[in-house]
Amino acid sequence: MTQEILHAKLKENFGFEKFRPNQEDIINSILSGQDTLAIMPTGGGKSICFQLPALLFPGITIVISPLIALMKDQVDSLRANGIEACFINSSQTESERNFYTERLQSNTIKLVYVAPESLSFLDNLFNTLTISLIAIDEAHCISSWGHDFRPAYTNLGYLKNRFPSTPILALTATADKATRKDISNQLNLKNPQLFVASFDRKNLSLEVRPALDRVQQIIEFIQDKPNEAGIIYCLSRKTTEELAEKLQKNGIHAKAYHAGLDSSVRSKTQDEFINDDCNIICATVAFGMGIDKSNVRWVIHYNLPKNIEGYYQEIGRAGRDGLPSETVMFESYGDVIQLQKFASQGLNAEVQLAKLERMKQYADALSCRRKILLSYFGELVSENCGNCDICKNPPLFFDGTVLAQKALSAIVRLQELEPLPVIIDFLRGSKNAYIFEKEYQNLKTYGVGSDQSWYDWNQYLIQLINLGYCEIAFHKQNKIRLTTLAKKVLFDNEKVQLTAVQKINVEKQETKVS
Ligand code: ADP
Ligand code: ZN
Repeated sequence: MTQEILHAKLKENFGFEKFRPNQEDIINSILSGQDTLAIMPTGGGKSICFQLPALLFPGITIVISPLIALMKDQVDSLRANGIEACFINSSQTESERNFYTERLQSNTIKLVYVAPESLSFLDNLFNTLTISLIAIDEAHCISSWGHDFRPAYTNLGYLKNRFPSTPILALTATADKATRKDISNQLNLKNPQLFVASFDRKNLSLEVRPALDRVQQIIEFIQDKPNEAGIIYCLSRKTTEELAEKLQKNGIHAKAYHAGLDSSVRSKTQDEFINDDCNIICATVAFGMGIDKSNVRWVIHYNLPKNIEGYYQEIGRAGRDGLPSETVMFESYGDVIQLQKFASQGLNAEVQLAKLERMKQYADALSCRRKILLSYFGELVSENCGNCDICKNPPLFFDGTVLAQKALSAIVRLQELEPLPVIIDFLRGSKNAYIFEKEYQNLKTYGVGSDQSWYDWNQYLIQLINLGYCEIAFHKQNKIRLTTLAKKVLFDNEKVQLTAVQKINVEKQETKVS
C-alpha cells in the first residue's frame, strides 16, 4: 500500500492531515498480514490503527473490547464518518442482534465491536463470514500479570487457531515488558511486530500540591480559567457529590459522576460534558473510560490515586488535542492512610501496597516528575521536562536539623501515642481542650515550635516520615512512632536536609503581577 493511499484514506474518512507517531507503521504491519502488538498511551490514537485497515480489507474486522459504553461511542463516531459499523453485546435485545447478524452476513458492515463475553454469539456466523482482521483492544486484560485482568479475555487465544491466517492486532495503553510477553503468548500471536509509542505527553503539565484547603485551591484554579473543561477525580462517591455541591455554591457549574448514580443521570452528565454544556465533572475513576473529548484542558486529582498506571491514564484524558493542558494532584496525609487501609484489606495486598508506595514516592519526588513517570513505563529520558512543578520551581534544601530534633523529641515526650495533628498542636503550644485534658502543656518541648505555622509543621513532619525518621502506625490510630534512624538525629546530631515549604498562594500572586 503506498503512503499516498493511506494518507488519502486518513483525510477522507477521518478528516486528519497526518498520522500520529506509530500509527502508519502499525497499519502497514497489519496490512502485510503480520500479527501486531501495539502499546500506545491513552489518547495516542489506537482506534485508527484498526479502523483504517478495516476500510481497506475486503472482509470484516472484529474488534474485541471490554467496554460496552465505549463500543457505542466508537460505532456512533464511525457511522458519523460514513463507515458501516455495529456492535454486539449483552445490552442488546435479541431482535437487535438478529438485525446486525443479517447485515454482517450480507457483508455490508466493515467493523463489528464485540464484548469478549458475547463472542460466542458471533461464533455461529464464523463459517459464513470473511474475517480480515481481529483487533483486541485493552489487550492487557488477558494477562493476570497486568493491572486489570478480566477472565472473559482468557478464551481469546482460540481465535488464532480458528483463523490462523488472519492478522491479530493487540492494543493496550498499559503493559510493562512481562505483561507484553504474556499477552503475546496467551493470544498465540505469530512473531508479532511490536510497536511501543512514547508515553510522553509533553503538553500535560504536572503538578503536585499539598492538600491543605484544597477546595479553596480548586475554586481559585477554576476561577482563573472559566469556560475550560476539566475533570476532578475523587476517591469516593460521597466526595464527588460534596465537592460538586461546594463548587456550585461558589458559582461553578459542576456535576458529580459515579457508578452509584442512575444510569440515565450518568449518561446525561456524560453527554453534557461532551457537548460543553457542563464543563466540570467531579468524578470517581468510573468516569472517563471511553469518553472521547479532545479539549479537556485540565485534570485534578482531589485525592492521591491508588497507583501510577491509574494516575497516568486519568491525567491522559486531558489535552488529547495536543494543546497545553494542566494536571494537578493533591497529596494528603489522610488519603495515604485511607488508601493503605483499602490496599491492605483488598486482593493482592502486597502488590497493591507496593504500587501505592510508588505513587507516594512520585508525589513526594524532588526531581523531574515526568522522568519518574516515563521510567515507570520503561522509557528513559536524560533531559528534565521543564513542564512539571519540580522543573519550574526546584526545591530549596536547607539545614532542617533543629526542626527535626524538635519534632522527634516531641514524639518522644508524647510517648509515641499521638497522631500527627496532636504533635503539631503540641509543638506549636496550642491551647486546646485535648492538650489540657492530657496535661501536655506541662511536658518539656511543649511550644518549642511556635515560630512555625501549622501548615509548615505539617509539611516538615511529612518530610520526616518520608525520610524515614518516623512512621505512621496505621493499625494503631495512626500514632506517630520513631524509627531507629531517629536516634541518629536525637543523639548523634545527624544533619537533616529538608525542603522549603512551597508557598503556593504567594507564588501565584507573584506570577500574576509579572
Ligand atoms: P486511544 O484509543 O489510544 O486512547 P483514540 O483512538 O480514542 O485514542 O484517539 C484519541 C484522539 O485522537 C481521538 O479524538 C482521535 O480522533 C484523535 N486522533 C487519532 N489519530 C489522530 C491523527 N492522526 N490526527 C489527529 N487526531 C487523531
Ligand atoms: Zn520536569
